[in-house]
Amino acid sequence: MRHYIRIREAISPMSTKENQKKQASRDRIVAEARRNQAAREKTYREKALKMFPWVCGRCGREFTGRRVRELTVHHKDHNHDNNPPDGSNWELLCIYCHDNEHARDQVAEWYRQDGSGETPQLQSDNKPFAGLSDLLEKAANNSDKDKAD
Ligand SMILES: [Zn+2]
Ligand SMILES: [Zn+2]
Repeated sequence: MRHYIRIREAISPMSTKENQKKQASRDRIVAEARRNQAAREKTYREKALKMFPWVCGRCGREFTGRRVRELTVHHKDHNHDNNPPDGSNWELLCIYCHDNEHARDQVAEWYRQDGSGETPQLQSDNKPFAGLSDLLEKAANNSDKDKAD
């Protein structure tokens, strides 16, 4: 027992250091990815702002000076990595319309998955917890078995 403890003491500081090293490199990778994305966003936003009039493509509001911060670049195909230099995948939207645009897409996506195009109705025979009792039973059986062993 004492021997076992000594081994663990010998191992654990090293493995902790190892974990810290792994964590640090993970953090570095994440930070770098964030930096890259921020840089990329800044570039295409600047390009889009040079290319298009500072007008929201939905509500038609005009933006000048510092308020241009409220104008965002929407990707028509929703792929932020698709940034053709001619700007064909970009649309300038104010933050409100941009939010709306994505909210609407989420709803559309939801309808598509449903397939009916109708608002799904909650059915009375819809049992969200069907199968739960089976699972509980199985779990109970398993723990009984454990006790028997
Ligand atoms: Zn707008
Ligand atoms: Zn968008």
